[in-house]
Amino acid sequence: MNLSETVESLKDDMVKAMVEMLRIEAISPESGGKGELKRAEFLEKWISGFGFDGIKRCDAEDSRAEGGVRPNIIATIYGKNREHTIWVISHMDTVPVGDLSKWETDPFDPVVRDGKIYGRGAEDNGQSLIASMYAAKAIIDSGIKPDYNFSVAFVSDEETGSKYGIQHLLKLGLFKKDDIVVVPDHGVPDGNEIEIAEKSIYWVKVTTYGKQTHSSIPHTGINALRAGSRYLVEVDRALHERFSERNELFSPPVSTFEPTKKEENQPNINAVPGEDVFYFDMRIIPEHGITDIMALMNEVAERVSKETGARIVPEVYRGEQSPPPTPADSEVVVRLKTAIERVKGKEPRLVGIGGGTCAAYIRLAGIPAAVWSTIDETMHQANEYCKIENLVKDAKVFALLGFRQS
Ligand SMILES: [Zn+2]
Repeated sequence: MNLSETVESLKDDMVKAMVEMLRIEAISPESGGKGELKRAEFLEKWISGFGFDGIKRCDAEDSRAEGGVRPNIIATIYGKNREHTIWVISHMDTVPVGDLSKWETDPFDPVVRDGKIYGRGAEDNGQSLIASMYAAKAIIDSGIKPDYNFSVAFVSDEETGSKYGIQHLLKLGLFKKDDIVVVPDHGVPDGNEIEIAEKSIYWVKVTTYGKQTHSSIPHTGINALRAGSRYLVEVDRALHERFSERNELFSPPVSTFEPTKKEENQPNINAVPGEDVFYFDMRIIPEHGITDIMALMNEVAERVSKETGARIVPEVYRGEQSPPPTPADSEVVVRLKTAIERVKGKEPRLVGIGGGTCAAYIRLAGIPAAVWSTIDETMHQANEYCKIENLVKDAKVFALLGFRQS
């Protein structure tokens, strides 16, 4: 049996593991859950007989969670060369169920139907977790040592910031510069996109200070809502005009500037508001920098302030510059590309996205990481599912990562 056939023969076990795992809730304390401990204990037990050379726990303390920890599991097969490690990192935590009335089945009582497994976390990130776990088992069963160490990591806390997951593992120094890291936590239905870059994400808060007064005598005040609205329209236009370069690696290939949240300015209708706050969510391609963006925002703020008598203050609320893209010729991309081509018969595209994944933390540490999986993008929705076909094929790709093809 070759590696792909070995993976294929493990299909029923994969489905069983997935169903059993999804029965165990793993929602972070921030989202009102107990954390991932029960699920981690289940997984540790499940893989204990697989034949890994080592299984270790790298838990992070968190008093809010069950057991006082956020668990992280690393299971390793030793390679021919033990200097480097090929990692497949997936997360155990899931988002909450959302509106339960929209679910056709119980999100924690998984249902297998028409080649799909339904349940919260089936796709995000259960599919990749189970696939990586059985890719490792197939490698072990094949009896051939991978080129380098092959480690699967099951981490906590991806959905709420990664502090107790990936970031904790980075702090422990587990990843080395020449390691090969795949984070299968984003993908498209045909599995034909490898994500090698992410836009920088910035949230900008805009506060407009005016002067409150009774709305029957508006001339005695300065309407912060009107001034702020005018600023919104003008700065929105200016940003799109000035920062209009394209980078075709990304989809969409431009920086995006979206006014999103608007805070309540006052509870009553019969006053001219004295203060007004709204936010921009910006996803910035590498061609553009936040310093230039803020300079333009300040320039427009000064002008509109002068014209309206209000004082408009834009400021970065949250955000950071994203790390540089993973090079197209890096070992992780080459291995992943070859493996995908062998399993799917098509050469995948390299892309950048506007969303953020925890691969950014790994890239920030100077380690090239690639993001890939095959999903229908049902994550975070009611009736989330994973296709069994994707589960098996992605497992084949992960297994092949261990062996460089000539
Ligand atoms: Zn995810």
